[in-house]
Amino acid sequence: MVSRIIPVERFDLIIFGGTGDLARRKILPGLFRRFADGQMPEGSRIIGAARSEMDQAAFQEFAEEAISSFAGSAPEDTVLKAFLDTLDYVTIDALGEDGWAELSAKMRDTAVRAFYFSVGPSLFDDLAMRLHKHNLVDPETRIVVEKPFGHDLETARALNKVLSAHFDESQIYRIDHYLGKETVQNLMAVRFGNMLFEPLWNSQYIDHVQITVAEEVGVGGRGGYYDKSGAMRDMVQNHLMQLLCLTAMEPPAKFDPDAVRDEKLKVIRALEPVEPHHIVRGQYSETGDEQGFRDDVENPKSWTESFIALKCHVQNWRWAGTPFYLRTGKRLQARDSEIIVVFKETPHSIFGMEAGGGRNELRIQLQPDEGITLKVTIKEPGPGGMRLMDVPLDMSFAETLGDHADTPDAYERLIMDVIRGNQTLFMRDDEVEAAWAWTDPIIQGWESVNDVPKPYDSYSQGPTDAALLMQRDGREWREIGA
Ligand code: NAP
Repeated sequence: MVSRIIPVERFDLIIFGGTGDLARRKILPGLFRRFADGQMPEGSRIIGAARSEMDQAAFQEFAEEAISSFAGSAPEDTVLKAFLDTLDYVTIDALGEDGWAELSAKMRDTAVRAFYFSVGPSLFDDLAMRLHKHNLVDPETRIVVEKPFGHDLETARALNKVLSAHFDESQIYRIDHYLGKETVQNLMAVRFGNMLFEPLWNSQYIDHVQITVAEEVGVGGRGGYYDKSGAMRDMVQNHLMQLLCLTAMEPPAKFDPDAVRDEKLKVIRALEPVEPHHIVRGQYSETGDEQGFRDDVENPKSWTESFIALKCHVQNWRWAGTPFYLRTGKRLQARDSEIIVVFKETPHSIFGMEAGGGRNELRIQLQPDEGITLKVTIKEPGPGGMRLMDVPLDMSFAETLGDHADTPDAYERLIMDVIRGNQTLFMRDDEVEAAWAWTDPIIQGWESVNDVPKPYDSYSQGPTDAALLMQRDGREWREIGA
């Protein structure tokens, strides 16, 4: 197999918010794994920046703990030490002038320069403004921004305006880590790298598509944020929307950032407004020792949804008549995320109804394990006539790719794409705005009628109405955690 490591240029990566939760759980461990795989070129550096008074040694200690907790297998001492040597730290307040000259003194002209804004969006304007004021930006400089990208269309537009005042769109990398998942990219490889699927990839052959992102955890320590956001803003507008786009888009002329993003944008713009009766919102209730959503967010009157299921349509030539069912929620039976493309039944069964067998399904699983399975119908082995059974053609990466299945975490891959200057897996300004333009009226719809979310038991399949949404159409969800 060809080496999977595609070298990148030497870089300086500055992590604003270098002491935060995201840096600790994802960014630093991810960078370490790239370093350990030999992908970080000699001389590259990672500089943490935040208000906390820390020196280089303290930041190295912070990173060491982060790596031992979140980087997977125990690191080799020499590799770990070499990685820690690439780290530095500057005390900076995004809202003040202290620290910027020190950061400026550490920068080099001969490396790719990337600034990761791993801080709340309210700091973006100040950070961008001060980066320019202190001459830290050149035309090749990249910035990485995190979700949430806006709370609605208006705030997303305002954020885009702030960023575009300081940077060209080609320098802005809006992360949606779902796009960094191996399987999500494999969805494109399966669709556009094979002759087998694309001729069937339309409403003539596909009955419906289900996209589920189920989490077992509740809102945890993010209650305050989540109560103002809810599942629609936190998950559907970004992650599920991106999965839908990659499933539904037309083949781009080439695998190039704007060609891919143009096609995704067309899908979002073709989405029909969703009928209120095609939406089910839910809230997990107190179950056993576990407190319910309202206690978790410390708001006894909260009407925010921790679960949403909806049916939508992409109104274009390819998809007219094929519904897309989206579902996401917290405190569900299992952590289980997948896209299932359910094909139509054969027009006529030559074996008779009693022979059994179902329909073809292409299942693209993202969590907990990544893999792709195609369900096909075959003859049940043995004598006893022609009885049919469904078997999975399993393309799960662990088996197919053997040792090479230790795929990078989404963050690692995306950060390396930033350094490479490849924006294909990052959201463009118009894409984000189009997604909000579709989402906003849906939210306003339920707000205008004071829709109360339906309660559901923790660790269940969600509210029973979500099952009815499918059953009314003669379909059913794949069981979460099955
Ligand atoms: P966090 O744990 O609250 O960390 C915030 C970081 O920003 C800290 O390093 C903090 O350090 C720094 N900071 C705060 N005010 C600052 C200022 N005025 N100047 C300079 N640095 C400042 O937040 P997080 O969870 O890491 O999240 C960071 C961003 O990523 C947020 O936008 C969040 O929505 C997004 N995100 C996070 C996750 C996740 O899993 N954590 C997932 C997706 C998206 P000091 O207090 O030392 O300044």
